[in-house]
Amino acid sequence: MTTSIIFTEEFNNHNNPGHPENAARLNTMMHDLKEAPFYNELKIIKPEILSEKILSEVHSQRMINQIKDISSTDESSWIDLDTYVCPKDYETARLAAGAVLQVCKQVLLGEAENAYALVRPPGHHATRERSMGFCLFNNTAIAAYEIAKQGKKILIMDFDVHHGNGTQDVFYDRKDIMYQSFHLSPHYPGTGDILEVGEGIGEGYTINAPLSYGNGVKSTTKILDEIFLPVAKQFKPDLIIFSAGYDSHHQDPLGGLRLTTNFYGNIIKKYQEVQPKIVCTLEGGYNLKWIGKCLVSQIAQLSGNSIKIKDTVKEDENIRQTLVKIKDEIGKYWKI
Ligand SMILES: [Zn+2]
Repeated sequence: MTTSIIFTEEFNNHNNPGHPENAARLNTMMHDLKEAPFYNELKIIKPEILSEKILSEVHSQRMINQIKDISSTDESSWIDLDTYVCPKDYETARLAAGAVLQVCKQVLLGEAENAYALVRPPGHHATRERSMGFCLFNNTAIAAYEIAKQGKKILIMDFDVHHGNGTQDVFYDRKDIMYQSFHLSPHYPGTGDILEVGEGIGEGYTINAPLSYGNGVKSTTKILDEIFLPVAKQFKPDLIIFSAGYDSHHQDPLGGLRLTTNFYGNIIKKYQEVQPKIVCTLEGGYNLKWIGKCLVSQIAQLSGNSIKIKDTVKEDENIRQTLVKIKDEIGKYWKI
């Protein structure tokens, strides 16, 4: 059994060197991964493009056409103040979404033990109706939506420093796809309140932990151990998808949380006890010195080569009030 890494240079056709979400991110991550002692044990695979049919089941035609139109010109353009679209992005963004779906299927079939989708552009801010926050199409949501058709239960765990408003939006009224997120608050995009728990039959299947500036490994681990993991065990997912954003690392220029490199390996270890069928998909992370190390920590754990990287930081451990509030709210639906 192996860990699959799905990647293609074509993801870097989406690029704007002056923007934090640029091609240098994947280049530095691939470089660091190739240096890892376990690199030769990994299975590197190429993605297949997502069909227009599957894309249109998650995103509105208006939104799809907007990307398609810009993509067919020969100049880059902006969807909003911080989200750029490049020529050929209709293909590039569908390759990213196709990649996540492809490895989800592979892991469910047992063709790989687990997988990492090293993709760009990211996805978790893209709602059904709108590309935003550096994201064109919601890679994770598209994969989960398609896999759920097989009657599978999916847990999406989002540890990006930003709340994945798009993913939450797509599955807000469903009980077969759970969304768990911790994120810095207040921060972009402004969603992810404790009281956002889902609606209709989906009530209790969205769980948000808004953290404070300076919270780090100890405070986050309390949220995981006392809320997220006990709920995940009761939910019994067939597959776990991580929205992997390394902008929650303490050195990230767009962050404000204080997670350390080893945290990213440890969080995989914790969720492996819930369900070892895991797919990680890249979201944010903008410090080029650290994102490769965070990635290596996760893939080391996925491939059974757990490593420790020297990286410590002082954190604000105060989490008690938030913990109590989440327990009050989520305790209505789950034993915690
Ligand atoms: Zn982010």
